[in-house]
Amino acid sequence: MDKENLAVDVVVAGGGTAGSAAAWALARTGLSVMVLERRFIDQAGARWANAVPPWFFDEFGIDRPKAPELQRDEKSAWLISRFGTCRAGMHDPMPYIGVDCRLLVQRLHSLGRDSGVVFEGDVSGATLEIDAHGRPVALTARRGDTKSGGFPFRVAARLFVDASGTSGVLRRQAPAMARDCPPLQPDELCSGANQIRRIADQGGAIAYLAALGLQPGDTVNWAGVMGGFSTLVVHVRSDLQTVLITTGVSQDGGRGSGTGILDDFVASNPWIGSTLFGGAGLIPIRRPFDRLCAPGIALVGDAACQVFPAHASGIGMGLMGARTLADAVAGSDDPGAEGPLWAYQSRFHRRYGAILGGFDAFRRLTVSMTGEDVGALVGEGFMTGDSLRLALSQRLVPPRDAGLLASVVRAAARRPDIAARLVASVARMAATAALYRLHPARPDRSALRRWSCSVAAALGGRPDVL
Ligand SMILES: Cc1cc2nc3c(=O)[nH]c(=O)nc-3n(C[C@H](O)[C@H](O)[C@H](O)COP(=O)(O)OP(=O)(O)OC[C@H]3O[C@@H](n4cnc5c(N)ncnc54)[C@H](O)[C@@H]3O)c2cc1C
Repeated sequence: MDKENLAVDVVVAGGGTAGSAAAWALARTGLSVMVLERRFIDQAGARWANAVPPWFFDEFGIDRPKAPELQRDEKSAWLISRFGTCRAGMHDPMPYIGVDCRLLVQRLHSLGRDSGVVFEGDVSGATLEIDAHGRPVALTARRGDTKSGGFPFRVAARLFVDASGTSGVLRRQAPAMARDCPPLQPDELCSGANQIRRIADQGGAIAYLAALGLQPGDTVNWAGVMGGFSTLVVHVRSDLQTVLITTGVSQDGGRGSGTGILDDFVASNPWIGSTLFGGAGLIPIRRPFDRLCAPGIALVGDAACQVFPAHASGIGMGLMGARTLADAVAGSDDPGAEGPLWAYQSRFHRRYGAILGGFDAFRRLTVSMTGEDVGALVGEGFMTGDSLRLALSQRLVPPRDAGLLASVVRAAARRPDIAARLVASVARMAATAALYRLHPARPDRSALRRWSCSVAAALGGRPDVL
C-alpha cells in the first residue's frame, strides 16, 4: 500500500495529559499540530484519579476541574508509618484536588480539537527520519489494523514532541537525545497502581478508619510499607460509596510492585468491593533530564521525567512542560530551531527544575531508607503536617509552621542518625535548587555539560551530559 504523505508544523507522540496539553498550547500559537497516539484516542493517558495541586491549572491556563472531573472530598490526610504508631496530619484546605484524569485528558483533547489539533489514535511503529545533521525531519508509522499492515503514512514536521511517557519513543531515536538522556535506573522508577473501588461493607470501612482514629473523608498515607520509597494511600469517601487506593514503590531492591501492594491490601480488607476504574504503570522519579531538547525535538511529561520525585506525581509538571514549550517557541519562524527550544529547556529548569531537582534529593534519601528509618522519619516528629503540605503542594517554599523546627530539634535529640541524614539531604536540596537557577541561558553544549556535572555532584550520581 502506498504511504500517505502529510506535513504539519508539529507532531506530538502521545496523547496523554502532557502531549494533549502541549498540542493545544502549540496550536494556540498558530502552529498546525498532529497528535499520534498508540492506543485508541479515547483511551490515551492516565486512566486513574490523581492528586493534583490546583495551582498547576491556573499556571497552565485552563479552568480548574469541576465535577465529575473533580473527584474526592478530603477533609484531612494523615501520614502514618507502617508500624501505625505515629502520624503527621494535614487539614482542609488541602494542597491538592482529586482529578479523574480520564476526563482531564478528554477535556484537553476537546480544547485541542477546537484549536485545530488533529488526533490520530491506534498508531504503531513510529519511526523518525533523521537528516545528515541529526535533526528529525519526518516520521513514518501505521494507523489501524496492524495484522493487515495498517495504513502506512509519513508526516514531515519541523518539531517533534515526545510525550509518550516512560516509553520515550522519539527520545530513543534522536541521536542527541539518546546520547544525553541515560536509561532510567531501577531506583529512578516507581511502580504505581491506583483503583477506585466500591465499598462492599460500609461498617467495615468505618471500622478500618476508626481503628486509626479517623473518619470517612480522611486519607491515610501509609509510608514505607515496603521500606524505602513505598507508599499505600487509602481514601474512603465521606459518602461511603467508594474508596480510592493508590500504591507506589521504587523498583530497586526487590520491593515488589504497586499492583502487588494494592492486591494484598484489598485481599486483607473484605469491606472493599469491585473495581470501578483504575490502572497501573511505571513512573520516572528522577530529576528531569538535563537535556529536554535538540534541534527538531523536545520532550514533555514523563518522557522528560517532569515528575515530582518525592511522590511520583507528574500530571501538574507535565502541564508546566507543555506551557513552557509553547511559550518558548511562540512566534519563531522555525519551532524546531535550537534557539527557541533551548529557551524552553532553560526556562523549565530554572523555574520548575529547581523544585524537581531539589526534591530529587529527598527521593534519594527515602529510597536509601529501611522501613524502620521511614517509621522514625514520620514517627519521631521529623515530618509534621506542614512538611507534608509543602511536599504535596509541589512548591519550594519555606514551611510556615514555627512548630516544625521545634519538632525536628526534639526528634534530632532522639534519633541523631536520622537527623544527620536529613540535614545532608536538605543541604543537597538547597544546593541543587540553586544550581537549577543557573542553567545556561543560551545554546552551549559545553556549558550544559559543566552544569550537568555540577547538578550530579550536588545530588550525588552520574551527570546526564558527558
Ligand atoms: C497508578 C498511578 C498513579 C499516579 N498518581 C498520580 C497522582 O496522584 N498525581 C500525579 O500528578 N501523578 C500521578 N501519577 C503519574 C501520572 O499519571 C503521570 O506522570 C502522567 O500520566 C504523565 O503524563 P504523560 O502525558 O507524560 O504520559 P502518559 O500519561 O503515560 O501518556 C503517554 C501517552 O503516550 C502513548 N504512547 C506511548 N508510547 C507511544 C508510541 N510509541 N507512540 C504513540 N503514543 C505512545 C501512551 O499510550 C499514552 O497515552 C500516577 C501514575 C500511576 C501509574
